[in-house]
Amino acid sequence: MPQLIENINEMQDLAGRERQDAKTIGVVPTMGFLHEGHLKLIREARRLSDTVITTVFVNPAQFGPAEDFDRYPRNLPRDIDLAGSAGTDIVFAPDAASIYPPGYCTYVDVTQLDSVLEGKSRPGHFRGVATVVTKLFNITKPHLAVFGQKDAQQVVVIKTLVRDLNLDVELVIVPTVREKDGLAMSSRNAYLTAEQRREASALYRSLQHADRRIREGERQATRIIGEMTDIISGQSSGVIDYISVADGATLEELPALNGHSEILVSLAVRFGNTRLIDNIHVSL
Ligand code: AMP
Repeated sequence: MPQLIENINEMQDLAGRERQDAKTIGVVPTMGFLHEGHLKLIREARRLSDTVITTVFVNPAQFGPAEDFDRYPRNLPRDIDLAGSAGTDIVFAPDAASIYPPGYCTYVDVTQLDSVLEGKSRPGHFRGVATVVTKLFNITKPHLAVFGQKDAQQVVVIKTLVRDLNLDVELVIVPTVREKDGLAMSSRNAYLTAEQRREASALYRSLQHADRRIREGERQATRIIGEMTDIISGQSSGVIDYISVADGATLEELPALNGHSEILVSLAVRFGNTRLIDNIHVSL
């Protein structure tokens, strides 16, 4: 069983001692309710570091006022078991009041990148993400941190944060882990009804279609987006929030793909109150 630490000072002291003992620390930041996607990140941290810290923190700062913070699924005892089975040494699970005590007023803004795609639909989301990741790095003092490609824009934002603030942390990115029918694993899949769950496989089918069409030579984003819309709307009750074809490095939306080598096709679709995101990278 991994050790559970809830206190920030205790976590910082322990991380400091590990560093003094010349141990490499790998951290896996999560919001808990762990699934196989998270466990793949933890196994990667296990492979690459001496001490693996999994953080479990549902970060209020990255949820909008009308979003699902209160009902976000939580199960810390189960998370501790699963995190341990994948090789976690320490689960760090602080409460919100210690991360954001009264009078808290410091935030990290990764400008420009935070106002497109997910950031456009979820104002303030990436400010919350960048702030908590900076704090978790300062608390767990990692040599490396593992994130999932499932949250493609988050990866770009955190890479930029690390570069711009000279954070001394190596980033390791793990490909998206999917269910058998292609649906990207997500803690939010637990919200779906059986019918929505079946229909949700249309998201990955639409992404695979985009991948195939781009490889075949299609270069007009509107055509790709139109065909993806037909797949999702024709095969599910999902309501499309956005479908985007963008440059994978800058996240700039592209009317035409010519001259770009890394394409990020991403989407957000609502099934009832449940908002799912997914993406694929296409290298040209
Ligand atoms: P979350 O708990 O949703 O904030 O996710 C914590 C970390 O796990 C993030 O780096 C996510 O990108 C990653 N993650 C979530 N779902 C998946 C998945 N299906 N495959 C790979 N990584 C994932």
